[in-house]
Amino acid sequence: MAQFSINRTTTPTADAARKAALADPGFGRYYVDHMAVVDYIGGDGWQEPRIVPTTEWALHPASAVLHYGQEIFEGMKAYRHDDNSIWLFRPERNAARFVNSARRMGMAVLPEDIFLASVEELVKLEHEWVPVSENEQSLYLRPFMIASEPYLGVREANTYRYAVIATPAGPYYSEPVKLWITPNYTRAAPGGTGTAKCGGNYAASLIATEEAYANGCGQVLWLDGAERKWVEECGTMNIMFVTADGELLTPQLGTILPGVTRESILKLAADHDLKPVERMISIDEVLDGVGNGQIAEVFACGTAAVVTPITGFNSPDRGPQEVGDGTPGRKTREIRQHLVDIQYGRAEDKHGWMRRVL
Ligand SMILES: *Cc1c(COP(=O)(O)O)cnc(C)c1O
Repeated sequence: MAQFSINRTTTPTADAARKAALADPGFGRYYVDHMAVVDYIGGDGWQEPRIVPTTEWALHPASAVLHYGQEIFEGMKAYRHDDNSIWLFRPERNAARFVNSARRMGMAVLPEDIFLASVEELVKLEHEWVPVSENEQSLYLRPFMIASEPYLGVREANTYRYAVIATPAGPYYSEPVKLWITPNYTRAAPGGTGTAKCGGNYAASLIATEEAYANGCGQVLWLDGAERKWVEECGTMNIMFVTADGELLTPQLGTILPGVTRESILKLAADHDLKPVERMISIDEVLDGVGNGQIAEVFACGTAAVVTPITGFNSPDRGPQEVGDGTPGRKTREIRQHLVDIQYGRAEDKHGWMRRVL
């Protein structure tokens, strides 16, 4: 496993200040004292992995990431169990996805063992920043990589910087949301970057989220870029449908982001008497099904919120529509609780998903 050298900050957060921060961490408000960094130099490869104080970076204004957007990221959490041990959930899936994202964006490929070590070593060092398990608090980890080479020509960069930063995440309330079916924008197209977890996908999606807010919705439901007919995913989460026939239905992989939460919930479906089905689902099938009860429940899933109930849709064509009685469904709540219980060590980890860090 890759060895990270540690250069400790001379100004660590005082215990009292950290306790105050953890009493009300919000999200993205506080950052732990250290970050993991590994640089890549073309021709020379990955440089010494190191953990250093969290500080600003000096970047040359010509750095490729600032102009052509070569950037990828991951999102994962460290969970404290009731016995004070600290765990990650399927981190090897994030490491593998990071490789795929890098390949798609023409970036240096970070070996998976370095990815795993970076996350584990940072969590070990900053273990005091992992909140207590009450109310689903966690330490959110953000591994990411940028093209750091100063060069204005358009080509794959020759130098990259990989880093992991971490921010405590406070109590999570998974508020139900309604989805806006935008007539104006798409997120991904065949051959595009839909399967890469890259910043550019988000930059291109923000305008549609504003449109969703303006139409009384909390998120966008993306349709496919070719026909604008097939359901893909929500803004930052994959989407699932519980049918009246006992299926757990979700769009197949292809242009969507292959979520770790999605993959995991499909594996839990049988425990909830649901049959997992991955296939193309048209927006008409969804809206008709919601109307006639064939689709009983809808939810979105991703690391941040785990499972978010979807209680309605709105679109210019068909107007507002509620799912069921407009409140979160029973299977949705059960599946969410099951997954959260595995992550916090309260339910049996039959699939061997949890990885102990400390
Ligand atoms: C990260 C992400 C998801 C969810 O993936 P998880 O691995 O479950 O967190 C879904 N859609 C998009 C666009 C994402 O960026």
